[in-house]
Amino acid sequence: MSKIQMTTPLVEMDGDEMTRIIWRMIKDDLLLPYIDLKTEYYDLGLKHRDETDDQVTIESAEATKKYGVAVKCATITPNLARMDEYDLKKMYKSPNGTIRAALDGTVFRAPILVRGIDPYVRTWKKPITMARHAYGDVYKNTEYRVEGPGRAELVFTDESGRGTRELIHEFEGPGIIQGIHNLDKSIEGFARACFSYALDVKQDLWFSTKDTISKTYDGNFKAIFQRIYDEEYRDKFEAIGKEYFYTLIDDAVARVIRSEGGFVWALKNYDGDVMSDMMATSFGSLAMMTSILVSPDGAFEYEAAHGTVQRHYYKYLKGETTSTNSVATIFAWTGALRKRGELDGIADLVTFADKLDEATIETIESGKMTGDLALITTLPEVTKLDTEGFILAVKETLERKLA
Ligand code: NAP
Ligand code: MG
Repeated sequence: MSKIQMTTPLVEMDGDEMTRIIWRMIKDDLLLPYIDLKTEYYDLGLKHRDETDDQVTIESAEATKKYGVAVKCATITPNLARMDEYDLKKMYKSPNGTIRAALDGTVFRAPILVRGIDPYVRTWKKPITMARHAYGDVYKNTEYRVEGPGRAELVFTDESGRGTRELIHEFEGPGIIQGIHNLDKSIEGFARACFSYALDVKQDLWFSTKDTISKTYDGNFKAIFQRIYDEEYRDKFEAIGKEYFYTLIDDAVARVIRSEGGFVWALKNYDGDVMSDMMATSFGSLAMMTSILVSPDGAFEYEAAHGTVQRHYYKYLKGETTSTNSVATIFAWTGALRKRGELDGIADLVTFADKLDEATIETIESGKMTGDLALITTLPEVTKLDTEGFILAVKETLERKLA
């Protein structure tokens, strides 16, 4: 069989620890035998980020803007422990944060549903896609530790030098202050990304914030969504019998649990961060969730939603058997390859991506899975496989489907 040819390279962002090991296995076992894989490679492994003063992360984001499609491996966000472990020059920012800020995109996360891995919430029959705003708020904050009594104010100086001041608090003792911001332009991009995505998958769009408390800040998000919906999208939603609706985040949480799924739920940056981890767990596992960053000018970055699975990596380094779930990383690759195939008109590449997805799901449904899923599955006959064992089982299913 001749290999599938590509025309435009994928931006490949390699990463850290166990996911870096899985990355290699997926390429060697599931991709390179079938595709003449064209990628522009960026090593976002922490060591190389340190060597390049994190320049490589910025370059990989620029390349994503240029080519339009990237696939990213999970990466370490350094903390104090990592500073020691990798002898870093600096405590670099989260690569995901850097890339999100550069692309000003929205992150869409959806569970990968598999028979035998049932959601914890019994009413959920369809996937719930989380849309997380990827700019600003606490991710671009300025924080200050107040050591003693004093007056904290919010000061804004306009271009002409005129200032406005707003009292935050008269401190009588030690405490903390935080300043955050967002931009109408970014919120508008977020809103449009959500409306287009929901139309694309023909689902309702929900949006929720805490505008009863944060009347100006969250109120601004609510107003922008409503205006853009009314001006640009209402007709299109009504034409397919779908709707946009806004509700307070507390109300939304209750409704989501009682729903049967099948909609897109848009959230601000922090709400989306926290809720998507909860949703992933409720649907089964963080390793069974896709994550796509979509920029307003149409660049796509595909990744797994989980981290670098450090605990498994240390076992791997000691030569112990690991059973790390590679499904989300496989789906990151297939998502990127499918998108590349669609953009470049390469039908074979799209078909290959579909078949690899199906092969992955069918392998699990046949009872072959990694330990995390073996613990929660309702299937009666289960074979727990090690990390590469699972990837090779997927390969076997794939070979059958390609034959
Ligand atoms: P994590 O890598 O997601 O792992 C947390 C735990 O969840 C694991 O110890 C494991 O549980 C389970 N798990 C996660 N993914 C799994 C998989 N694919 N297969 C099987 N089990 C899986 O989170 P973390 O340990 O908090 O973070 C490790 C590093 O990842 C950190 O340095 C963090 O900065 C980074 N991180 C990166 C990203 C990203 O790049 N997108 C996202 C989050 C975190 P058991 O150990 O119980 O088996
Ligand atoms: Mg998170």
